[in-house]
Amino acid sequence: MTEQQLAAVKIDRDRLWRDLHETCEWGKGERWGEGTTDIGMSRLTLSDADKQVRDWFVNTTESLGCKVQIDAMGNIFAVRPGKKAGPPTFAGSHLDTQPTGGRYDGILGVHAGIEVLKTLNDNKIETEYSTGVINWTNEEGARFPISMVASGVWAGAYSLEKAYGLVEVGGGKATQKSELERIGYLGSLEASYKANPIGAHFELHIEQGPILENSEGKIGAVEGVQAFKWFIITVKGKDCHTGTTDFQNRSDAMLTAAKLILHSHNKAAELGCLASTGILTLKPGSTNTVPGFVQFSLDIRSREDQKLLELENVLKSDFAQIAAEKEVGGLNTLGTRGRGCTVEWQLDTDSPATKFHEDCVKCVEASAKAMLGTDAGGKVQRMTSGAGHDSVYTARHAPTSMIFVPCRDGVSHNPSEYCSPEDCGNGAQVLLGAMLRYDRLRAEKGA
Ligand SMILES: [Zn+2]
Repeated sequence: MTEQQLAAVKIDRDRLWRDLHETCEWGKGERWGEGTTDIGMSRLTLSDADKQVRDWFVNTTESLGCKVQIDAMGNIFAVRPGKKAGPPTFAGSHLDTQPTGGRYDGILGVHAGIEVLKTLNDNKIETEYSTGVINWTNEEGARFPISMVASGVWAGAYSLEKAYGLVEVGGGKATQKSELERIGYLGSLEASYKANPIGAHFELHIEQGPILENSEGKIGAVEGVQAFKWFIITVKGKDCHTGTTDFQNRSDAMLTAAKLILHSHNKAAELGCLASTGILTLKPGSTNTVPGFVQFSLDIRSREDQKLLELENVLKSDFAQIAAEKEVGGLNTLGTRGRGCTVEWQLDTDSPATKFHEDCVKCVEASAKAMLGTDAGGKVQRMTSGAGHDSVYTARHAPTSMIFVPCRDGVSHNPSEYCSPEDCGNGAQVLLGAMLRYDRLRAEKGA
């Protein structure tokens, strides 16, 4: 297709908006405003509501002429045939949500993919290679607690056994496998990039952060996903009476943990990284006992693996020093030094930085610029994703990129998550353009 022909193909923005909100009837969550669509989502993976929207996905894509296949993780692959043999160029994302989620995270990406197929049909466009849409199972990790687990199995990052054995959070007995069976989505296709290769993967997603909105950007051409590591830090001191033990004679695990958390923030800021603590437990938990045991989570992130390692190393050495009441970063300057504590580190998750494929990023950029025209300057931005997505795993075995659109106040994982009809439409239009441009590029390169 020529640039002129590409420019003439337009998605149906009203149809996209209507379809998206129609399917959000399945798994409705909390109402947050007066409008008809001001209702959040609570569509946990493999729930009855998830089955309903999956059935809709299968019926809709089949009615568009797609061949639909379901793999052993319940991932659904809908493929519209092209002229040449070879793995399809896919749009992919997820239809599951957080328990108090919104209508756009994941859902927009899948709907935009279906809207791309509808637009190809409406315009009778025959693509060089097959084109398709994927609904990845359990991206959120909210019910069975590993996020992106099904694309992870496809990519070979997790075994099928590990994924099947995950038990639902909240005390129920259901496993990921028993729920796949129960709702009829345990497919016969092997969940593997070897048995079921992907030609390319494009994922439209809300940004989930404030950068585009704050800079009046309209489209993010996502170059990659930042690296992150999750640790459990255990600080051990000694329980003692708060009234009878003076400061010199304490091993205060809570006071030490507070210093460590502050230090992680200061060092991350210095190195241009992020550091966050979201879980904190302490024992014994009594007003008049100095706690001798504290455990907290530490989530550190950076665009560069090397920077992240630098932060990890400096924190490991500094934490030990601070806990031993040595002077580091001004944290033991004021107050009274005690007897010190010990610090242990446990690595829970290690996710290296992902670099997306330059060909795909360029296709996103080109189609964003074509859509925005003379208005494009500054509105199309290259970005790094702060959060993980299924595209992290597809990128290991197929050229991949993502498209970000702004969401109000950067809010997601919240019922009031909102992406305007204009931004939803922009994202889907760019998705269409990127997939067609990549299809053309593949044909030129003969790959
Ligand atoms: Zn998502």
